[in-house]
Amino acid sequence: MELSKKVKSITPSQTIEITNTARQLKAEGVDVISLSAGEPDFNTPDEIIDAVNAAAKAGHTKYTASAGLPELREAIAKKMQRDNNLTYDSTEIYVGNGAKQVLYNIFLATLNPGDEVIVPSPYWVSYTEQIKMVGGEPVTAVTGEDTHFKLTPELLKAHLTEKTKMLVLNSPNNPTGSVYSKDELQALADVLAHTDIIIVVDEIYEVLTYGTKHVSIASLSDEVKARTIIVNGVSKSHSMTGWRVGYACGDAELISALAALTSQSTTSVAEPAQYGAIAAYNMDPGETETYRAIFERRRDNAYEKISELPHVTCLKPEGAFYLFPHMQTCAETCGYKTVNEFVKDILREKHVAFVPGSGFGAPEYARISYSLGEEKFNEAISRIKEFIEEKT
Ligand code: PLP
Repeated sequence: MELSKKVKSITPSQTIEITNTARQLKAEGVDVISLSAGEPDFNTPDEIIDAVNAAAKAGHTKYTASAGLPELREAIAKKMQRDNNLTYDSTEIYVGNGAKQVLYNIFLATLNPGDEVIVPSPYWVSYTEQIKMVGGEPVTAVTGEDTHFKLTPELLKAHLTEKTKMLVLNSPNNPTGSVYSKDELQALADVLAHTDIIIVVDEIYEVLTYGTKHVSIASLSDEVKARTIIVNGVSKSHSMTGWRVGYACGDAELISALAALTSQSTTSVAEPAQYGAIAAYNMDPGETETYRAIFERRRDNAYEKISELPHVTCLKPEGAFYLFPHMQTCAETCGYKTVNEFVKDILREKHVAFVPGSGFGAPEYARISYSLGEEKFNEAISRIKEFIEEKT
């Protein structure tokens, strides 16, 4: 069948590809350890599942308003006030099928063909592909270890053109684990002052920071808030990836455009799942602290273990649940030209799956998720170490 030019230009998500290969090997009985997970390994808290069951039993199994249930939008408004000190009216909140779809709809609703969007790299795989899908032009601003993979005002300035419509920020960051400080965000916002450039900030890993507190760029001033669209959701904070609930907060006109798009595409998010998100945001925030503390311990362990791998260097991540080590030197020392080939052979020979950095715009690196028990994680690192020792 002849597919569209647009769809042919899209690179499928590499993370999902590796996860699928690992899943397939597992199904064949191979003892695979996957370090490619982009989701917490806990189950959704019982309290949320109970709320969903109760809602479904009570008949909340229908279409809802395209911007989301009013009760959920109110719960999100309260969460934004409580956690971010930001005031949003319900008309400034839109609920979509996960942050991923929310982002896609934002790009669709704001970008015209040729509009440029600055995306700092390393970036989460979907930004650039989604921007291309709607006819926008992703402009990559390459960051490095010297700035902890964070965009600087100088780099931002260097990538601004007359066609720049938007900047995408992601903090805490997937894949690097970097977290922007208030001052760093302020410096970026200052560059954009007196322009009409939109800031889309993906805060999906908001609750997972270790030692550094998450700051939302929208909280810097009313002027910055007016140009910012915050994207977030329950996937990572409440281990609800499969429920598909995310949201956007920002300009009311954009929010109604997102609702209009939804009314002609998916109608709404599944009603029971929205009830799950209401329960999540009404839950004691202390519960997410329990998960955060577990991830912090895992981060410390993961960082210690990765530092033991020969020829591999890694910055200590401050958020999310990924390490982003430099692996090119190690790959070359083992006789591989690229990290891609190196990673593939580790999966084939040692049955450890993780994602090469090429999909994140950083081919010399790889992303290692520590969203799994420490014992399994440590075994995976031992297998990688064994592989490196055998090849050198
Ligand atoms: N944004 C980032 C940076 C992510 O890592 C992910 C998931 O991996 C998403 C958004 C998507 O989240 P959701 O499950 O809400 O679609």
